[in-house]
Amino acid sequence: MNNAMLPRFFHKYPMFSRWVLGGACLGLAAGLVRAQQDFSKVEVKVSKVAGNVYMLEGSGGNIGVSVGDDGILIVDSEFAPLAPKIKAALHTLSAKPIRFVLNTHFHGDHTGGNSEFGREAVIVAHDNVHQRLLAGTDGKPTPREALPLISFNDTATVHLNGEDIRALHFPHGHTDGDSIIYFPKSNVAHMGDDFVTYGFPFVDGNGGGSIGGMITALEKALTQLPADVKIIPGHGPVSTPDDVRKFIAMMKDTRDLVAQARKAGKSAAEMKQAHLLAKYEADYNKGFIKAETWIEQLDQELAKQP
Ligand SMILES: [Zn+2]
Repeated sequence: MNNAMLPRFFHKYPMFSRWVLGGACLGLAAGLVRAQQDFSKVEVKVSKVAGNVYMLEGSGGNIGVSVGDDGILIVDSEFAPLAPKIKAALHTLSAKPIRFVLNTHFHGDHTGGNSEFGREAVIVAHDNVHQRLLAGTDGKPTPREALPLISFNDTATVHLNGEDIRALHFPHGHTDGDSIIYFPKSNVAHMGDDFVTYGFPFVDGNGGGSIGGMITALEKALTQLPADVKIIPGHGPVSTPDDVRKFIAMMKDTRDLVAQARKAGKSAAEMKQAHLLAKYEADYNKGFIKAETWIEQLDQELAKQP
């Protein structure tokens, strides 16, 4: 791990600290994370995506927003301390009340603000998000107002602002509770962390995720979405289906490379030493999951397969 990268990275993605860090760098990094979890400097940027859908970027996962006559619906809620800034940003778009929060998955950088928005809005999420939040995260119980009031096992539709806003569940991708939120009239989809642009993706195995599931989810989602849909990633700028296809192709190709190396009797350590994924390092090593970690994850997942 490159410690010089940590402050900047954890400032953007503080939730990763508890999964990624271990061993010798833990103490140093924990200090850095604490120092960087000062939300007072975070600015919430508003941009229009298409139709009546907007994107908010602060710290944590991107927030998708639907505004219209019926009120405001948000997809994900970042962190609780940012709620006043998020509300101020939403009020630049509409004076109407915030009526719904849809969560794409349970991670704290997407649901942390639930405790604030849940006081006034109805939270909707997949059953597994409800279960995981109910069980608490980081050993802390989730406040009642932060829990989904409505959960669903496959799909849910919120009829708001003249649009049938659909939550489509895809199992065992980034986690076991992922939903992609599709706004058909505005032609926008929020993909949660099944699609991110920060480099090699984080797949939460402890949270029921898998790389194979993420590939399947994204391939299936693309067949269900229009060719010209605008994509809000879990993290990163507004993207296109081609960007998602490139991401899927990287995951499949790297999985093939690791599978071939395994067949040739190579260990993960040997693959890392040989820079097996060298051709992807320039484009994908920019996040906190480096090629080495990605090789390990692929190797572990392939080891479980018959
Ligand atoms: Zn996540």
